[in-house]
Amino acid sequence: MQRKRLEIEGIVQGVGFRPFVYQLACRVGVAGWVRNDSRGVTIEVEGEGAILAEFLRQLQEQLPPLASISRLSEQPLPPCGERDFHIHHSASDSAALAQIAPDSHVCADCLRELFDPADRRYRYPFINCTNCGPRYTIVTAIPYDRPFTTMADFPMCPACQGEYADPGSRRFHAQPNACPECGPQLALRDSQGQLLAAEVPLAATTDLLAAGQIVAIKGLGGYHLAVDAANDTALAELRRRKGRDEKPFALMAFDLPMVARFAEIDAIEQRLLESPERPIVLLRRRADAPLSPLVAPHNRYVGVMLPYTPLHYLLLQQFPALVMTSANLSDEPIAFEDADATGRLAQIADAFLSHNRRIQTRTDDSIGRVMAGRALLLRRSRGFVPRAVALPKEQPAVLALGAELKSTFCLTRGDRAFLSQHIGDLKNQQVYASFAEGIEHLQGLLQLQPQIVAHDLHPDYLSSRYAGELTKLPRVAVQHHHAHLVSCMAENCVTAPALGVIFDGLGYGSDGRLWGGEFLLGDARGFQRLGHLAYLPMPGGDAATREPWRMAVAALVHAYGDDLPQLPWLTALPAADLRLLRQMIAKGLNSPLTSSCGRLFDAVAALAGVRQKVSYEGQAALELEIVLEGGPEAGEYLFELQTQDDLLVVDPAPMIRALVADLQGGGAPGLLSARFHNGLARVIGQVCDRLRQQQGIAAVALSGGVFQNRYLTERTLEILGKLNFSVYTHSLVPPNDGGLALGQAVIAGAAGVQA
Ligand SMILES: [Zn+2]
Ligand SMILES: [Zn+2]
Ligand SMILES: [Zn+2]
Repeated sequence: MQRKRLEIEGIVQGVGFRPFVYQLACRVGVAGWVRNDSRGVTIEVEGEGAILAEFLRQLQEQLPPLASISRLSEQPLPPCGERDFHIHHSASDSAALAQIAPDSHVCADCLRELFDPADRRYRYPFINCTNCGPRYTIVTAIPYDRPFTTMADFPMCPACQGEYADPGSRRFHAQPNACPECGPQLALRDSQGQLLAAEVPLAATTDLLAAGQIVAIKGLGGYHLAVDAANDTALAELRRRKGRDEKPFALMAFDLPMVARFAEIDAIEQRLLESPERPIVLLRRRADAPLSPLVAPHNRYVGVMLPYTPLHYLLLQQFPALVMTSANLSDEPIAFEDADATGRLAQIADAFLSHNRRIQTRTDDSIGRVMAGRALLLRRSRGFVPRAVALPKEQPAVLALGAELKSTFCLTRGDRAFLSQHIGDLKNQQVYASFAEGIEHLQGLLQLQPQIVAHDLHPDYLSSRYAGELTKLPRVAVQHHHAHLVSCMAENCVTAPALGVIFDGLGYGSDGRLWGGEFLLGDARGFQRLGHLAYLPMPGGDAATREPWRMAVAALVHAYGDDLPQLPWLTALPAADLRLLRQMIAKGLNSPLTSSCGRLFDAVAALAGVRQKVSYEGQAALELEIVLEGGPEAGEYLFELQTQDDLLVVDPAPMIRALVADLQGGGAPGLLSARFHNGLARVIGQVCDRLRQQQGIAAVALSGGVFQNRYLTERTLEILGKLNFSVYTHSLVPPNDGGLALGQAVIAGAAGVQA
């Protein structure tokens, strides 16, 4: 006989881990006990050596779907003659180091019951079990137990209590366990928040949607605004009320065959759609899709998700697809509290389908797309948060505050990084409040006191100012593109120095200029700038970000000097506007210089006639990528490489002149776009090749928002692959500023170790 103590860390609480261990122990025939504790789960098992080995093997191979083990340690103990196996209650004494699970889509077993007329939870919109349901969004404190969730409001009925206490039940210790007798209930309210006397709120809601009304629907992490996706009038009204002209809306469809009616789906996209996290997946829209064109104007892609709550399944039975967009006015955070929702959305929603289970933590839907054969998250939020990212090594506890526009923050503990849910644009006051609350809440759940604060080098970012208020902690200011580089390296568990191709919108450079087309060499301890795109003026500053035509004029002046070529859109501009802009450029008035690749995309999009003004961030670059599809094009516009002050400078002047020549020869936007993308991928390869000769380093990390572009990323990977580089790209951490805090955290951690 032997006895062993097993200490397990990872996602092992709130995911059915203890009942799984109990059932396994009974099946295999070992005695002992299991309990949750502050670090995860502790098990003691007693039995014959071979049986213990079998228990250990199956423990690791047959984990419940939401569980994962990040560390397992074994320790021999003297046998004590125990005969049975028990589940002990949570030890709530010490600091909670256990990981809380993310929210999960409703599982197949629960779905079967949902649609089974004989089941006591038939059509009950809050059905869940140990393997599925809300988690992070309902947790108020640790340890993860019902009194510390928003389900504390609902005492269980005897039947639910019986399941909860029965180790043989699939609802054993399912903290959100509920049924129609004892659990949350739906309620339908009008636009003023007055309760509507609907006998079946769900049926009344589907009637409203079928009649073209806009209904705010409470979900897992917040409210959605729902409308029938085929109804032009309803969509036009939603865009008008929400103040959103062109930014695409996401869809929800009942199942895969339904999704296939709107969009093309390959095997990897299918896996991403069906994953337990249920993100919105960007898919190629079918030409014959039965959708209103107002779902995603000027866009060949459509963002689709499958239902993830039981309520969604019940709603989607009635519609081919619903638009399900975050319930907010543009730039505001998604509404998640009932009173706030009815207040803020009164002018947008015709009705509210709400319920009385509180949402503790607001989380938006995650967004992903498939690139180079794997998933890439563009927004990491519901379903993924608060799952930890494994770091290559242990480091001091850091709070990293991210950037400003696609704000997230990151907390580290040991060798784990906890990247927060998407928070949004901090310039909005409510978003900023949500940022501060989110930091407090996650610190509480992780029982963490950060030792170091990391923030962006930009002194005016609100996240940097927040750091400035934390006066008791040492602060580390991190250069924006260095953080992107290390974010990508950390996600790939790389510590050795690598080259970084960091292309994004704008980030504050070490020289005080606006960087964004950078070739770096570095690791967590530091970086060197080895090259960049040539500086171009941004006439009008921020206005140039909203009006790509300004960047196009700057690019033309850069390539041609005073004699600008004749282009239709240029001659169509009011002469006074153009004259003023050229004066600003010539005199350097309100025209900060930038090496941004995002601004170069803007210039090309405007030159190619794709877009002169944008209504949301990244729109011009996105549309430039979209127009190029439709056939292989091998032609490329060449850039020129120069050396200035020991830096390689990539000059777009010859590229711009070649593009203008094509344009004057009647080249279509799709052709111009393809040749631009091809030339950019080519010059990335050329620069990396030169830097490898110079530095002797053959590892390249690709990061920054520009690498959300599928065509550019795949083409660059192909070229760098042929040149025998090892290339690292993002996957579950976004390449845009949503992933920045991870890099900041690792850099500050390394600084803390050195200090
Ligand atoms: Zn379930
Ligand atoms: Zn019940
Ligand atoms: Zn950035």
